[in-house]
Amino acid sequence: MSELLALAGLPWPVELRSHPRARRLRLALDEPRGLLRLTVPRRVSRRAALAWAAEQAGWVEAQLARIEPGEPLESGATIPLDGEEVLLRWDEAAPRTPRLIGPVLSCGGPADRFADRIARWLRDEARRRLVEETRTLCARSGISDGPVSVGDADTRWGSCSVSGAIRYNWRLLLAPPHIRAYVVAHEVAHRVHLNHGAGFHALQAELYDGDVADARLILRRLGPRLKRVGRG
Ligand SMILES: [Zn+2]
Repeated sequence: MSELLALAGLPWPVELRSHPRARRLRLALDEPRGLLRLTVPRRVSRRAALAWAAEQAGWVEAQLARIEPGEPLESGATIPLDGEEVLLRWDEAAPRTPRLIGPVLSCGGPADRFADRIARWLRDEARRRLVEETRTLCARSGISDGPVSVGDADTRWGSCSVSGAIRYNWRLLLAPPHIRAYVVAHEVAHRVHLNHGAGFHALQAELYDGDVADARLILRRLGPRLKRVGRG
């Protein structure tokens, strides 16, 4: 019998398996399936097992970093953008400013600064789209607008301050639009409720045109890849 669930702090979903003969709790990476297998002996409660698993976040991150090297922004590499694979190409004859044409993101200029130009373009594009998507949602739902910025926080995809300033991780640009929309809905809902209470969840569900739990799970699954882009 197994069960799949998202645990706060763990980048991959956890597959819980009770195992009558297991002698201790065990967490293992199932790389091909992009999940963590948690083996639970009979005498350990589900609750205790999940609490234990949540404490292994540091170990999980370290394992992922070890098995999955970064993905530098090199000509010839592909990166996800809006959830689709896009080819990076340095083209001597092209302008310095990167341009996205179909599934190819290319630019010219000095080859040794290619990665910097692509990185800057990705961040600017992320800011442009996230500002627009946040504004559109605010306008549609009658929620007041506020400042939006992008950064590269390690553990959060977005945050909303008491004053209503929203900060997103630029890597959301790499994720499929409906997954990015979930984070936007989450942060915009925080403009009204600065907590994760019932009112917040109701508003978030109203603002998001999809299944929140699904989107969360998908984002958790995609997270490690999105975080490798441009590193190493
Ligand atoms: Zn939140």
